[in-house]
Amino acid sequence: MTFSNEVISANGRWGTPNYHPLPIVISEAQGVWVKDPEGNRYMDMLSAYSALNHGHRHPRILQALQDQAAKVTLTSRAFHNEPLARFYEKLARYTGKSMILPMNTGAEAVETAVKAARRWAYRHKGVPDGKAEILVCEGNFHGRTVTVTSFSSSAEYKDGFGPFTPGFRVIPYGSLEALKQSVTPHTAAFLVEPIQGEAGIVLPPDGYLREAAAICKQHRVLLMADEIQTGFGRTGYRFACDADGIEPDVYILGKALGGGVLPVSAVAADREILEVFGPGSHGSTFGGNPLACAVAVAALQVTEDEALAERSRELGDYFLNLLCKLRHPLISGIRGRGLFIGLELSVPARPICEVLMRAGVLCKETHENTIRFAPPLIITREELDWAYERIQSVLLSL
Ligand code: PLP
Repeated sequence: MTFSNEVISANGRWGTPNYHPLPIVISEAQGVWVKDPEGNRYMDMLSAYSALNHGHRHPRILQALQDQAAKVTLTSRAFHNEPLARFYEKLARYTGKSMILPMNTGAEAVETAVKAARRWAYRHKGVPDGKAEILVCEGNFHGRTVTVTSFSSSAEYKDGFGPFTPGFRVIPYGSLEALKQSVTPHTAAFLVEPIQGEAGIVLPPDGYLREAAAICKQHRVLLMADEIQTGFGRTGYRFACDADGIEPDVYILGKALGGGVLPVSAVAADREILEVFGPGSHGSTFGGNPLACAVAVAALQVTEDEALAERSRELGDYFLNLLCKLRHPLISGIRGRGLFIGLELSVPARPICEVLMRAGVLCKETHENTIRFAPPLIITREELDWAYERIQSVLLSL
């Protein structure tokens, strides 16, 4: 029995079965490459669902982690800390927003945005107390807490977890008509993923976000972009919203903000929106901790210095073109933006991910039939060629 098998069976014995990982143990990683305990090497084409945009163990991010760990790691928000001040300024400048609220996980940041939108609607829009409504899209994925699950359109995510939080209305993704028709005087916000990641890299029709932003503005509805998966260069732009030339009222951020090292999330918006939170109305023991803030500042700096968005755009075009050359009866569609690409199959994707893994390419199915390719943005053209050759030969062997 290999050490990997022992680890996998120990995980199965003691851990809850709420994930279905591929049968591989990652014990070492650097850049786009990972190794299992037996010394086999694989290319990471998933990047921890886009949390590893900078690659594994980026030296500058690790340095920031070590430097800060040598000083102070946790203060709680009962006291001030200096890396938090640097983080506020860095993220405010990066987003162009005047206020930042730090949290840890993506779902927490979404919850934060929901609370902000509701309070903003009562205080600034005159919505009667308890009546605020938030519009969300079919096929959305914003996390796993009870409130976030409440507005999922996926029965499988909700089954057995009710009662749910009211105050949300689900509308079709990509339909401006539905958005127009669903806005009422009680609508506080429209919460949307610029590209739906978990739904299978679903791109809305061209110009959708631009028009949606105009509708929101006309009706004083906050446009809240969940850029947790699409932000920080993933789609070839600073934010996916940039492709449509729009600035949402609220950015919801996470994943790559933590540099692939720590959970760091945040909401960025203008003062009028985030100032609704007075002392005691929101918070988190670890949100804004000095270690996370030092890491996030380094992650943002690396994103800029290494022009990760530009890399993603150029290499994403290159890789998408290569994949479009694949001709195979099982391929029913290929789509994406930047290094955020979905390959849709007419059969379940999971067994194919397992064969790809054995060929040295790590990726994961998203929804039944789609394989998501989202490598670290530091990947090179040669490494993409390497991946392409393996993907091609796996598909030809089917
Ligand atoms: N929002 C989007 C668009 C996501 O893709 C995810 C995670 O995949 C989340 C929110 C939830 O983030 P977390 O898993 O950090 O809670």
